[in-house]
Amino acid sequence: MLINGPRGTKDILPDTVAQWLYLEERIRDICRCYGYREIRTPIFEHTELFLRGIGETTDVVEKEMYTFPDRGGRSLTLRPENTASAVRSYLQNKLYAAESIVKLFYMGSMFRYDRPQAGRYREFHQFGVEALGEINPSVDVEIILLAIEFLRSLGLEALVLHLNSVGCPKCRPAYREKLQAFFRPEMAELCTDCQSRFARNPLRILDCKNEHCHALSQGAPRITDCLCDECKAHFDKVQSYLKELDVPFELDSNLVRGLDYYTKTAFEVQYTPLGAQSAVAGGGRYDGLVEEIGGDATPGIGFAIGLERVLLALEKQELLPEIEEYVDVFFVALGEAAEKTSFKLMQKVRAAGLAAAMDFAGRSLKAQMKQANKKKSRFVAILGEDEVKDTSITLKNMKTSEQKKIVFEELIPMLSVGVKN
Ligand code: AMP
Repeated sequence: MLINGPRGTKDILPDTVAQWLYLEERIRDICRCYGYREIRTPIFEHTELFLRGIGETTDVVEKEMYTFPDRGGRSLTLRPENTASAVRSYLQNKLYAAESIVKLFYMGSMFRYDRPQAGRYREFHQFGVEALGEINPSVDVEIILLAIEFLRSLGLEALVLHLNSVGCPKCRPAYREKLQAFFRPEMAELCTDCQSRFARNPLRILDCKNEHCHALSQGAPRITDCLCDECKAHFDKVQSYLKELDVPFELDSNLVRGLDYYTKTAFEVQYTPLGAQSAVAGGGRYDGLVEEIGGDATPGIGFAIGLERVLLALEKQELLPEIEEYVDVFFVALGEAAEKTSFKLMQKVRAAGLAAAMDFAGRSLKAQMKQANKKKSRFVAILGEDEVKDTSITLKNMKTSEQKKIVFEELIPMLSVGVKN
């Protein structure tokens, strides 16, 4: 019986790899411009890292992690996101020693036991950045700009930036109490998830996807009305820079992360034409995270962009570039001697850095020419017994249909000139 890939996973087939390479190239380009350097961390980590780095009361940790014991009895988890790993690596490798602000980016697979649907998978890819070591709101603005400019550079336009501040451990407790007082009379009406969030993590009630909970949260107290002076000044500065830089945003008091180490700025970029899964980027400040993972108190901020969603958006808007794959020269060989000679010549052409192919099935001239066309060959080199004898090749330019008899030595120089034109 055929074995299919696990639910929620997708093969990236050869025809689509070019799109991924295109995205990855854009990511590398923009990160170079903004001074973010690539980091690659392991796909799995000690489970403990995510318990601390994401938070035991979050949906990701409670319901979505791929956790397994290894053969030595350690509990390991496939990374559901990359921030905790980046921070672990920053601490373990003492990256802070070299620079006061460490700016990192990553891209790769993440794993969550999510309910698969369009734009939601169990293995998906994120591009994300982290800036560690600087509290200045300018960094928040830089990070937001990087996310938006990346998406814009791909041609996406209908982007909406949602912005909020989630305060800090100084101002949040009073807000939590206000929120609990607001929801207490509605307790019985909340979904079971929100009932358990009420005591542990009441801010999360605000971004519950359940429509009834959403309706009940209308009129809830807003955290931005409860910020301490420091958080308020920070938030004001972020907003004034964004205005100065002509970056439109919408204040969204339902945009929250309920854990203590998330602080101040929280943002999301939505691409509304995507419908239900319209969030393409999510990010924010996490000034308490490094300490949570065992380091000295160090501010940090980052975002993650879901690349499958970006590709869906680009596809929808027909913004994916046509990437043509072709072969510089296709060898059409007639007879065994010609096949051998073609093979040798093909290797020479490949060694010169050009793409060469031939048909290994010993088919007719017509069938081989068909293959050459299918492979979008720029040139076809035809070798029969006569050509082998007088060490010549019939070279056909597929664009102009021009055909010429040349000697072996002329092949590479002619191809090198020809493929450039
Ligand atoms: P998060 O790490 O949950 O803040 O998510 C950041 C971004 O990753 C989201 O805005 C989505 O674009 C993307 N994302 C999150 N979960 C999934 C998933 N299961 N499948 C595809 N993309 C996802």
